[in-house]
Amino acid sequence: MSHFLNDDQKAIRDVAAKFAVNELMPIANEIDASESTPDWVVKRCAELGFYGIYIAEEYGGIGAGLVTACVVLEEIAKASPAFAGLLSVQMILCPETVNVLGTPEQKARLLPKSASGERLMAYSQTEPAGVGNIAYHQTKLTPDGNGYRLDGHKLFCTQGAAKTYLVMPRTKRDGVDGYGCVIVEAEDEGFQVQKYEEKLGWRGTNTGPIAFNNVHIAPDDVLGDLLTGNADHAPANQASFLGHAATSLGCVEGLFDLTVTQVKERQLYGAPMWKLSPITDRLAQIWTKIEACRAMLYNAARQIDEGTLALPLGSACKAYIGDTAFDCCSQLLQMWGGSGIMNSTGVNRYFRDARAKMVAEGSTEIHHAVIAQAALGFTGLLSSSDSN
Ligand SMILES: Cc1cc2nc3c(=O)[nH]c(=O)nc-3n(C[C@H](O)[C@H](O)[C@H](O)COP(=O)(O)OP(=O)(O)OC[C@H]3O[C@@H](n4cnc5c(N)ncnc54)[C@H](O)[C@@H]3O)c2cc1C
Repeated sequence: MSHFLNDDQKAIRDVAAKFAVNELMPIANEIDASESTPDWVVKRCAELGFYGIYIAEEYGGIGAGLVTACVVLEEIAKASPAFAGLLSVQMILCPETVNVLGTPEQKARLLPKSASGERLMAYSQTEPAGVGNIAYHQTKLTPDGNGYRLDGHKLFCTQGAAKTYLVMPRTKRDGVDGYGCVIVEAEDEGFQVQKYEEKLGWRGTNTGPIAFNNVHIAPDDVLGDLLTGNADHAPANQASFLGHAATSLGCVEGLFDLTVTQVKERQLYGAPMWKLSPITDRLAQIWTKIEACRAMLYNAARQIDEGTLALPLGSACKAYIGDTAFDCCSQLLQMWGGSGIMNSTGVNRYFRDARAKMVAEGSTEIHHAVIAQAALGFTGLLSSSDSN
């Protein structure tokens, strides 16, 4: 893929690859086993400038665009698909939501601190009624004195080291119902992180339920229009789906590379394992699928950078690359035999991370519903922003 990248993108990719191989890979199994990411990893990503890659220069980032962001996420996911998923939320989804919805003052308040890693952000939409079933969501914003009051609770909020939360509540103005987006700070009275879940995959990301009990929301903590803030940041969701797809791609590439080494070294029936034609045939098919996914991903990312993306392509990448990565990881794991099932080899986390990625940031079925709506020219049940 190198020939598509300019010199700046190649330089950032090399920095990300070096970080992934030398610093992240040695602790990736520990992140998975302990369900926690060491603070120094977050600080190191800040030093390397990763959090500001998709933030404009005027707000403290480097404004390098989505292709560059995806290149970095792909490299990092080869070592730790779990950490790459968290990085995608904090590098793309949250800052871009602020960028799309925010006033210049809100951007100046939030984005420089996000770019520097000083105050990373989290994104919170999902509720027990289902992520896209927003008419049944219970978290509500109610007018109160000189602002609003936020009450309710959300599920599965991936936080890492976040201190600022972008929360989607039900809203009302002049008797009209809506669904908006507000800013909540970790220090706000009435805000509570309830617990961190233990997960099958995508571990070490501090994902869990959060609650709001009479949290004061000032008028300048409402992002975008009170009634349509959620729907209006669909472009941020599309960019984020591609970031997430990049982490699925890096996930299958990481396991592919480890498996190639394994089949070259492992002796079966007195010969290297690669002499078995079912193995080489399967490896060739997986290699081809990886290349196809990469072409699809970077074609879509380039369209976003150029402002020409056809809306369901973000969903198509998220669903197709996510499903393909899981299918390929399952086949690659099989080549390890019993060793792949044992945690000590550190390879089954790729399979588990690929599986979690089929649900996180919109399940495959939800994305298929979005794509089908676009293909059929039908709107009404789902919008592309209903999938986080
Ligand atoms: C590791 C992880 C991290 C996450 N982090 C965050 C986060 O940071 N912020 C956040 O807000 N959420 C987060 N989520 C939530 C995630 O986005 C949702 O779990 C996911 O979108 C699925 O939604 P749901 O759980 O509400 O499933 P449900 O909507 O309850 O779906 C149940 C089943 O029905 C299917 N289904 C739902 N709608 C349709 C449809 N229209 N057509 C066909 N089938 C359908 C689903 O695919 C699924 O199989 C995270 C989830 C995970 C697993």
